[in-house]
Amino acid sequence: MMNIVAAIKKLLGINRDMINIILFGPPGSGKGTQAKKLVEKFGLVHISTGDLFRHEMGNDTPLGKQAKEYIKKGELVPDSVTIGMLNNKVNAHPEAKGFIYDGFPRTIPQAEALDEMLAGRGQAINGLFALTVDDNEIVKRILSRGETSGRADDLDEEIIKNRIEVYKENTLEVYDYYNTQDKAVSIEGLGSIEEIASRLQAAVNTTV
Ligand code: ADP
Repeated sequence: MMNIVAAIKKLLGINRDMINIILFGPPGSGKGTQAKKLVEKFGLVHISTGDLFRHEMGNDTPLGKQAKEYIKKGELVPDSVTIGMLNNKVNAHPEAKGFIYDGFPRTIPQAEALDEMLAGRGQAINGLFALTVDDNEIVKRILSRGETSGRADDLDEEIIKNRIEVYKENTLEVYDYYNTQDKAVSIEGLGSIEEIASRLQAAVNTTV
């Protein structure tokens, strides 16, 4: 027998069974590490705009060349470029049962574009999970990551500080944007990887 709920949802263009999660937090707060854990647990597709830009830069594509001009200074890549890239990536995964957005949205226009894209698909953000880590710890973590990451933007303390400034100036307000929708949750980002992973999982479980 046809599932009536699924049929009604299809009729209304609603696809709320899809899971869409934003992993939020300052640079170096552990989003990439924790995203991998969430992918394992919930079977979602991980989209990291930082990883996508690094891939483009590695292949020296026009998009990569453009992004590099901003990334090397610790500035944000322009919204139009970033949003276009994100849309392409989502469209490339029609089979996905949901996504983890890592490093996106980083500005209010990016958040609005994401909500609009999801609404067009009958979907919505389930929750934004913000890892909280203080500035000193962030600088320490990124400098130590820089010893092995091969990322030029991880080696220079001034660039790292600029990334933290840009985060406070342009990105933090994305938390408020989702908080007014009652979707933002703060997670203590200090502790072992496993401890943080279980805090996150518990929080995500309450929203999906
Ligand atoms: P981190 O979170 O450690 O700073 P990311 O890999 O997420 O590292 O991002 C690296 C850089 O890529 C950022 O400093 C920024 O220049 C660029 N970038 C990544 N995501 C975005 C985005 N959503 N909008 C604009 N620029 C971005």
